[in-house]
Amino acid sequence: IVQARNVHKAYDQLEVLKGIDLDVAPGEVVVMLGPSGSGKSTFLRCINHLESIQQGAILVDGEQMGYRLQGDKLLKLSENAIARQRRKIGMVFQSFNLYPHMTVLQNIIEAPVGIHGESRADATAHAMQLLNRVGLADKAPAYPRQLSGGQQQRVAIARALAIRPKLMLFDEPTSALDPELVGEVLATMRDLAAQGLTMIVVTHEIGFAREAADRVVFMDGGVVVEQGRPGDVLVNPRHPRTQAFLSRFI
Ligand code: ATP
Ligand code: MG
Repeated sequence: IVQARNVHKAYDQLEVLKGIDLDVAPGEVVVMLGPSGSGKSTFLRCINHLESIQQGAILVDGEQMGYRLQGDKLLKLSENAIARQRRKIGMVFQSFNLYPHMTVLQNIIEAPVGIHGESRADATAHAMQLLNRVGLADKAPAYPRQLSGGQQQRVAIARALAIRPKLMLFDEPTSALDPELVGEVLATMRDLAAQGLTMIVVTHEIGFAREAADRVVFMDGGVVVEQGRPGDVLVNPRHPRTQAFLSRFI
C-alpha cells in the first residue's frame, strides 16, 4: 500500500532524508526505530505530503502523493486533490490535539460529517464502534479535559480511524504520556495491529516492536540502515549503529 522510492528531503542546506526506500504491504505493521534527528518524523510527514520531497516518489494506494502523471509529465495536484489523497491516511501524533471545546463524540464525527459528508447518524454509530474498540464507549459525552492523557490519545486514535483510512501513521504516540498511561495506548495499538490495520509506527517502545511489528526498520542519518523481522533485527542486529542504538534499551 506504500511504496517509497529513493526519497530525498532537505530543509534548505540540511539533508534529512538521503534516499529512503520502503514498501509496506496491506495489513503490515512496520515499526520505525532510530536516534533523534534521524528523520523518522520527516519521513512520516512526507508520506502524507505534509512535506514535499526533492527526489524520488512516494505512492500510497497506487497514487503518487502530491502529483499525478499526465502523459510522461508529473503535475502537481491542487490542495483539494491532495486533501483527497490524505483521507486514505490517518495520523496520530505525540500531542493528541483534540478539540477542547468539543465532546469526545463530536471530536470523532467532525471529519466524517464535516468533510466526508457522512450523515450524523452513520458517523455517530461508527464513532461508537470505534470508541468501543479503544475501550472508551462510556466517554462519548465527556470533554477532553475530563480525560487522562492515555484516554485522550485513545480518542485521538479513534478520531484518526473515523475516516476509514487505509493506512495509519503513528509518530511517537506514547512519548508525551506519563509512564503509567503508556501501556493502555500500546494495548489499543496492539489490538489494531492484530485486527489487520496497516500501520507505520515510530516509537521507542521496543516491547511494542517485538510483540506487534511484522517488520522493524532502523533509520539513522536519513537512511534505512537495517530492516527485518523483530526477532532478527532486535535480537541479532547486524549493523553496528543498530547494535549501539538497541544497547541503550537493555
Ligand atoms: P526524534 O526522534 O527526535 O523525533 P526524528 O527522527 O523524528 O527525531 P526529524 O524530526 O525527522 O527526526 O528531524 C530530522 C532533522 O530535520 C533534524 O535535524 C531536525 O532538526 C530537522 N528538521 C525537522 N523539521 C524541520 C523543519 N521544519 N525545518 C528545518 N529542519 C527541520
Ligand atoms: Mg520525530
